Parts: sequence; C-alpha cells; structure tokens
Amino acid sequence: MSRRMQAAMYYGIGDVRYEETDIPEIGPGELLIKVGTALTCGTDVKTYKRGHPLLIKHTPALFGHEYAGIIEAVGDGVRNFSAGMRVVATNSAPCGTCFYCKRDMPNLCPSLKDSLVNGAFAEYIRVPEPVVQWNTHPIPDTLSFRDAALTEPLACVVHGIEESNIALGDTAVVIGAGPIGQMMIMLAKKSGASTVITSDLSPLRREIAIKAGADIAIDPTKDDPVTRVKEETDGRGADVVIEAVGLPQLWEQAIDMTRDAGTTVLFGGAASGTKFEVDTVRFHYGQLTLKGVFHLKPKHVEQALELIIAGDVDPNLLISHDMPLKNINQALEMMSKGETMKVAISP
Ligand SMILES: [Zn+2]
Ligand SMILES: [Zn+2]
Repeated sequence: MSRRMQAAMYYGIGDVRYEETDIPEIGPGELLIKVGTALTCGTDVKTYKRGHPLLIKHTPALFGHEYAGIIEAVGDGVRNFSAGMRVVATNSAPCGTCFYCKRDMPNLCPSLKDSLVNGAFAEYIRVPEPVVQWNTHPIPDTLSFRDAALTEPLACVVHGIEESNIALGDTAVVIGAGPIGQMMIMLAKKSGASTVITSDLSPLRREIAIKAGADIAIDPTKDDPVTRVKEETDGRGADVVIEAVGLPQLWEQAIDMTRDAGTTVLFGGAASGTKFEVDTVRFHYGQLTLKGVFHLKPKHVEQALELIIAGDVDPNLLISHDMPLKNINQALEMMSKGETMKVAISP
C-alpha cells in the first residue's frame, strides 16, 4: 500500500486541484524531500493561464518548482546527503557530457529541457538523480526554507545579469517589476549600474521596485517608457535593457530604448508561436546586441545561494504573502493580477 499526500494537481489551463495523491517513489541516486516552503513563480502563473510547452507534457501533473525542505529519504547510492538534512534543490540539471554541456552551456542541455522537475506544491517531492548531483545544496540552520526557496529564480537572474555585462556607471532598464524584475534591479545595482530604471503597470510593483533599488519607476500608462528612458540618457537610450515580462511588444520596446552598441537581454519567455520585429537598419548600423537568456547553470545556483545567505537580496520585498497549499488557486490568481509578489506556500 503506497502512502498518500496532499498536492496541487495541474489538470489544464485554469484548472489546478488540491487533492490526495501517492507520495512519489524514489529510485537509486534520488531524494525524497519533505517540502518546507514552496514559492509561486511567474512561470507557474503562465502555465496556469496558458499552459507550458516544456513543463507540462501530460495531465494531471504535479506542479510547482521552487522549494526547500528536509530530506525524508535517500535512494541507494546517494553519498553526500542523508535523511534529516535541510536542503534546497532546483527543478533541473544538465547531463554534463553532451555537446552543449561540454561548451559551457549546460542550460541548453537537451536532457535538462526533457526532465524539468515539477511537484513543489505538495507535501513531498522526488528529486531525480542528476538534480541531486548538480543542483542540490545543504542550507544553514539560520536560513529559512522560505528564503532558501528563492535560490532557483535568483540563479536565473544571476545568469541574466551575467549575460547583460553591466559595467560600472551604466544606466540599466528592467522592463517588468515582478519578482524576477525586482531581483534584476537588486543585482543590477550590485553589479555597478549607477541608474536603474524600471517600468511596470502595477503600482504595488513600482513601489517595491524603488525599495529594491530602482531610481526611477515608470508608469507606462502615463509616460511612454522609450521616450522617458531617452530623456534620462541624453537621447541615447540605456546601456543595458532587460525585458523580464515575456511579451513580443515589450521585446521591441526593449530594443527601442537600448542605445547603439548597447545590450538588450530578452529574458522573459513569450508564448509559443509569437514573433517580434527588429528594424534592420537600426540593428546593423546601431550595432545592437540582442541576447536571449534561458534558465541557469549549476554555478549560478551556487552564486545565488551565496547571495541569499549573505543577505544581498531582500526576500521580504520578493515574497509578499503566505498561504496554505489548499489556497494555491487563489495564490496564482492574485499573482497573475499583480496583487502579490511571490506567495510562500506551506504544505
Ligand atoms: Zn520559477
Ligand atoms: Zn548535457
């Protein structure tokens, strides 16, 4: 007889149910983690609202991917971990031996994209062997599960900031001040940007952005963001612009507000089948650099955890609500309306 647990199950767009299901079985090299805290993520909201090409392949599916907790059981052959340890783990790992892994692009490893972990909105989560090997880390007793669970999204942000090549004294723009945008703002400042500008429709998010270190928070219903950024930069445009929403029209806006020879980081994942346009003259004669940045590498996970332990990001600006697992629908609805930042979910 298998043991049972409560979990959020994804049945389809807008249909997530809180119900009883089997506790996952673990195999050799794997861990079973008793989830301490899971966090809602913009990706979960997008999955809830429109599905997700990589995350959900069949339904019903376990759901949620940002978590920290206590090891409940270890599979055969696991050496570095034992039951009772407090850990944070991510939702993916590379293989370490493929074409992309060998070229320092483990985030593009095909087996990573094929094996994304879901199931953090549950009492227990199974951690596959590659994730145990690459992206599972013990956490200090002084670090809460709630703060530790920021490791995965922050690691993605560390990756985005690394690719942006922000230099001392730069003006950086972050389009979208959701949790990812807020972390971008915090790390852009840490990376030496002297002026950080953000743009977001939500008054709550603009207010938090200023606390997170933004110098200017544009309300796009009142001010045209491109015009405003150019005004702030002697008409040139910003040195670095990071799009952290995932809408094609905002990708275009990001390019329009980047200065010649500047860098535009297209970080927000857009819906399948969408396209964006770039002016060829501007692209060539303006020597633009456009970078798509996806996910994280194992080193970014280590960097992110160090930043969290050191207090270099403020979790209280990023996590605005605490809710029990049974309220998962409410949490996703509120987050999608911009009424919350991340919600900490307790099983
Ligand atoms: Zn996430
Ligand atoms: Zn690989």
